[in-house]
Amino acid sequence: MKKEDIKKLAENKNLISGIYNYCDRWCERCAFTSRCMNFAMTREQDTDPEASDITNEKFWQSLSEIFKATREMLEESAEELGIDLDSIDFEETSRDEGIKDKIVKNHECCRAAKKYYEMVDKFFESEYIPSLQVVDKVQVQNAAEPKKSDGPDGPATLDEMVEIIYWYHHFIYVKLMRSVRGTLGNSPEVLEEFPKDSDGSAKVALIAIDRSMAAWGHMHTFFPSHRDEILTIIVHLDRLRNRVEKIFPQARNFIRPGFDETNPSR
Ligand code: SF4
Repeated sequence: MKKEDIKKLAENKNLISGIYNYCDRWCERCAFTSRCMNFAMTREQDTDPEASDITNEKFWQSLSEIFKATREMLEESAEELGIDLDSIDFEETSRDEGIKDKIVKNHECCRAAKKYYEMVDKFFESEYIPSLQVVDKVQVQNAAEPKKSDGPDGPATLDEMVEIIYWYHHFIYVKLMRSVRGTLGNSPEVLEEFPKDSDGSAKVALIAIDRSMAAWGHMHTFFPSHRDEILTIIVHLDRLRNRVEKIFPQARNFIRPGFDETNPSR
């Protein structure tokens, strides 16, 4: 994709600015694909199967074109704003970033989120696969089938629950890392009058936690012999949710572009 194409896309008034910053990246389930620049750029790549195949040279060519276009746009903006990109002290910056990385990774929420995805991996490695092999089909058929009427976010089938849990299990960690990082200064947070990126990221993490808890809740039905393990995971997620809400008290109130607006405009 060329710089001109990206600029043309960015001028599209139908797109919602920054919507992709606070979504869950689950494009197949997103109602805003037609209004998302990230989706438009990805689709451009997807129309050419070779360009979306990581083992094909065309994929890397396409990626390198996007990087090149981004770099050119960055240079143009820096020039307009009078910023000298070469004046950045990379040594000092990377030292600062290294310190921040450590703080973020050691934050209680990030540690708990990491523990959660490890618990999920362990459950699916040690419980789910053998359980699926022995799971009694009659039992599954007779189980109280979670219905779509649970709500748009509610899981409907075992596969769907597993899909939800898998989709979000790393995502929660990544989003919380970003939230915590946003509180460490030298970030967009310095603009106090604007909504905080850390709250937005924490909100997305909270939504992912809510949905994961709902999915785990339904897992009981299918794996009655694993209730204790499932309960332990739900309790862990509940504690994490409480901590996130306490540390980011404004997160639930954050208005995400598109998703939380009645008439989303550009
Ligand atoms: S806003 Fe929707 S379409 Fe865009 S990246 Fe996020 S999930 Fe995908």
